[in-house]
Amino acid sequence: MLDLSRFPRIDLIGGPTPIQPLDGLSHHLGEGLNGVRLFVKRDDIGPVGGGGNKLRKLEFLLGQARASGADTVISVGALQSNHARLTAAAAARCGFRCELFLTRSVPREDPDYTGNGNRLLHELFGARVHLLPGEADSLAAATARAAELEGEGRRVAVFPSGGSSALGSLGYASCIAEILEQSSALGIGFRRVVTANGSSGTHAGLAAGLAALGRDPRLAKSYTVLAPLDEARRITLGKARDALALLGIDRAISDAEIVIDGAARGEGYGIPTDGMREAVTLMAQTEGMLLDPVYSGKAFAGLLADVRAGAYRPGDAVLFLMTGGVPGLFAYRGEFGVRPV
Ligand SMILES: *Cc1c(COP(=O)(O)O)cnc(C)c1O
Repeated sequence: MLDLSRFPRIDLIGGPTPIQPLDGLSHHLGEGLNGVRLFVKRDDIGPVGGGGNKLRKLEFLLGQARASGADTVISVGALQSNHARLTAAAAARCGFRCELFLTRSVPREDPDYTGNGNRLLHELFGARVHLLPGEADSLAAATARAAELEGEGRRVAVFPSGGSSALGSLGYASCIAEILEQSSALGIGFRRVVTANGSSGTHAGLAAGLAALGRDPRLAKSYTVLAPLDEARRITLGKARDALALLGIDRAISDAEIVIDGAARGEGYGIPTDGMREAVTLMAQTEGMLLDPVYSGKAFAGLLADVRAGAYRPGDAVLFLMTGGVPGLFAYRGEFGVRPV
């Protein structure tokens, strides 16, 4: 049992997210799947802000913010940050003011990237947006702004990139407990639970939750889409340890227990790959479901490559976390071959 009851929490999801088989995709790929059974967990659907994995972290981050009397939340991210969007939306829903410090860290200047997708939604959800150059230290800017607002009598909570503090990561410790319950109820023993890894709180939370529950953290595997492999492993391990410490669990977690793959990242964060385009298109056309171009599209491409290469045995069940990010598709419109008429 994972007891999270001492952490203040605001419900932003409303119950377990569904697990469903990828029947259409499996039918389409046929023998190409080597008998592997693919499932998805629908963390991309949620009642606030269009849904996505950041909601699970925000349940704890906003819970803590409310408990500490905050009236304003500030967070950071890239210009097309899903985390920033869901922070703005959840803040609107819960009655906090929201400010965002967004960095131009991805080399894209077209109007879809700079004006549509999440960029549109940040402002639509009422956040005050501060734009910074790519190399700026956005967390330092956010912290300085928090001090300024506190000087004016406001109470401010600052959330790091991706909401991936130890507290935010608890959202995915909670998620893996939910997955293990669903897995017993469905009678499916998953061989792996697969996710994208950006700011690493999702993987760190899954690994910490598994360790806390006495299970093998290697059930979780991620594909890094942001940091190069070694750095992603170091950051994820550090965050998993921090999350376990926050849970008060005295269990060491080692480098070998953090399974990360660097093969799907391509040239870097937010830079499209052929595998991503194939994965997004395949999921859309065989399942009617949407991956995103920055995170889940690359991670699913990595999973497909592994399945095709025989990394799993026939009969293995693999669960892919659908983490959301749909607005990113509108920011990357040109990548999918559709031109205005
Ligand atoms: C942020 C994000 C991820 C990665 O989660 P981290 O906890 O940052 O590693 C995956 N998918 C989507 C759509 C995201 O927005």
